[in-house]
Amino acid sequence: MTTNDALVQRANDLLAAMTLEEKAGQISQYFYFRGLTAQNELVEAQVRAGQVGSLLFVADPRETNRLQRIAVEESRLGIPLLFGFDVIHGLRTIFPVPLGMAASWDPQLYERVQAIAAREARAVGIHWTFAPMVDIARDPRWGRIVEGAGEDPYLGAQMAAAQVRGFQGEAIGAPEHVVAGPKHYVGYGAALGGRDYDEVNISESELRNVYLPPFAAAVAAGAGNVMTSYVGIDGVPGAADRYLLTDVLRGELGFKGFVVSDAAAVMDLVTHGFARDAQDAAVRALRAGLDMEMWLGMRFVPGTNPIPTVGAFSTLAEAVRSGVIEESLLDEAVRRVLLVKLRLGLFEQPYVNEGAAGAILNDPAHREMARIAAERAAVLLRNEGNILPLDRSAVRQVAVIGPLADDRAATLGPWVFAPDLNATVTVLEGLRRTAGEGVRVEYAPGVPMPTRAIPSPFASLSQALGMPASSETSFDEEAEFARAVALARASDVAVLVLGEAADMNGEAASRSTLDLPGRQLELLEAVAATGTPVVVVLLSGRPLDLRRVLPCSAAILVAWHPGSEGGNAVARLLWGDATPGGKLPFSWPRSVGQVPIIYSRLNSHQPATSHQRYWEEESTPLYPFGFGLTYGQVEYRNLTLSATQIGLEDTIEATVEVHNTSAREVEEVAQLYLHQRYGRAARPVRELKGFERVTLKPGERRTLRFAIPPSARRYWSKADSAYVLDESDFDVWVGGDSTAALHAEFSVRSSTV
Ligand code: BGC
Repeated sequence: MTTNDALVQRANDLLAAMTLEEKAGQISQYFYFRGLTAQNELVEAQVRAGQVGSLLFVADPRETNRLQRIAVEESRLGIPLLFGFDVIHGLRTIFPVPLGMAASWDPQLYERVQAIAAREARAVGIHWTFAPMVDIARDPRWGRIVEGAGEDPYLGAQMAAAQVRGFQGEAIGAPEHVVAGPKHYVGYGAALGGRDYDEVNISESELRNVYLPPFAAAVAAGAGNVMTSYVGIDGVPGAADRYLLTDVLRGELGFKGFVVSDAAAVMDLVTHGFARDAQDAAVRALRAGLDMEMWLGMRFVPGTNPIPTVGAFSTLAEAVRSGVIEESLLDEAVRRVLLVKLRLGLFEQPYVNEGAAGAILNDPAHREMARIAAERAAVLLRNEGNILPLDRSAVRQVAVIGPLADDRAATLGPWVFAPDLNATVTVLEGLRRTAGEGVRVEYAPGVPMPTRAIPSPFASLSQALGMPASSETSFDEEAEFARAVALARASDVAVLVLGEAADMNGEAASRSTLDLPGRQLELLEAVAATGTPVVVVLLSGRPLDLRRVLPCSAAILVAWHPGSEGGNAVARLLWGDATPGGKLPFSWPRSVGQVPIIYSRLNSHQPATSHQRYWEEESTPLYPFGFGLTYGQVEYRNLTLSATQIGLEDTIEATVEVHNTSAREVEEVAQLYLHQRYGRAARPVRELKGFERVTLKPGERRTLRFAIPPSARRYWSKADSAYVLDESDFDVWVGGDSTAALHAEFSVRSSTV
């Protein structure tokens, strides 16, 4: 008997002992918000009754153990709970937001980062993370673009797989690791207008060529869980789409784990106008292939306190009894959930070592990795006259200006619930620590950050979990504005830290503009008018409108929301103690009106550069996908291919020389793009199919090799309703961004021709 067979046998033995209520409960997951007494009482009673399989939102080892004890010691069968949590970019040690991690173009780094996040999570009793978020996002108005890897399926797939490896380790059950749950399956990023939760209308080709690849990569990397999306395609909500959950996810992609709904998404089937009532919702979700319902444990009724309520899956026992659904279907879902608990070893060791957590959460190696990650995530967009790196010997006073310069929450970004806020290093603190003797660092916020026009549904949750209410500072606006401008005038350089507050991106945080919020632009323009050179550091989770920022700034460094060590990383980059080398994981639009704008578009009647596309402005992005500067110059030469013609199933190899032509060490991401000239469908003008981040010493030349396997040419063809490989002619480009000009070509012919 294999180990797997033995585990299945144990799961089956448990199943045989379970009542229908216990089975329905085992596939029910409840939120547990400490302090919500009535909800807590309901959830604890359900745990005691053996009618909860999993809890989310507990990140305290004493609390996870206390709740686990109820399940193990007080419930009839003693089946341990599975604890889930949104460990998106760190638990205590916070790393750059995922969009920033994608900008590192460094999957190995991302793997190490998520292994640390997993280690901290496991130390407090969390077994499973609702990450990675692998939704392709092509509309930066959508607040959740910050949680993923941007616009590109290839980059997205590499980052998805790396994160799954990092979270899970060798296999489910690896010590100090957690189960990964790629989300939100699938197409959530295509919500209309960038409005969170809006409807999605995408073709089968776009679904498969653009939105599915990161999920396929995460599944291939062994992800133990998948979370469905709130939205639906063709009117079928994600939590109840049998075609996507069963035929595609299990049938085609070979997913072997369990599927969880997004929060309250089963009950939402009723809201969507899809299911008749809670039981209809539960039955149709289960039939579709959903294994677990994530439920809030309460219902919101305007004007009253939330009402504690059990979830839709609690109706499944009755549904079996009355013959609406076969028990075997219920058993299948329960078995999947029991198997993950068995693989994790929870029956042998349900508790976490409370005494060991502190040392793990405060491991200095984690902070070190957070700093390195923030340095590698940063993207240098502009560096006129090589103002960066700043020369310590030529600068006496640095003016640090802007509402985000000393804002810890904005330094961390969204999806952060258990950080050590006081240990977060802001850009101001980082510059102060690293300036060295003889350089004064003075600070003026200048303007406040505006607060949300419409209150966030998550504000109360974040606050209940200990995060500060908002980044708003109250001060005398006119006096502070004038003080900031005067400080800039009296300084050798002004570092303006501008961008978005943490709650301006993430879930339910879409924006209808890409402007710098509040009076930040006005402040920047006033500072620039003093004549003091300006370096802009952007903290944000999306591209912002830089049209009026460019003429005011000599340099622009995009730091994203850089995490616990963000300030140290930014300061080291500004002083040249570290070298920027990140690249944009999306096309940076000129204005919100260009959205969505992508590099891998289809050619059409008018070329992309045509001035006939928009009346007011060019139709190219402000900065192309893959763009980013370093300190120094890189040249690409001698792109050669291993053949001029290959067969349909052959791999071709590209070789290119990268040369650091400058006297500084550089960071560069070499990128390979492919284009198929004709075929069963028109193919994008170019698509990323390979990349490698390299560090080159002054004058160093390196030869890089990229394999272009048949999978790089494979795509979903509408005419065939299948993935195909075409005979065609192909272009290859290699360079430092998606406008790379160094070119080669090859043909693909089937061997019979
Ligand atoms: C989000 C998910 C998240 C879940 C649990 C939902 O609102 O869409 O991404 O994992 O909440 O916090």
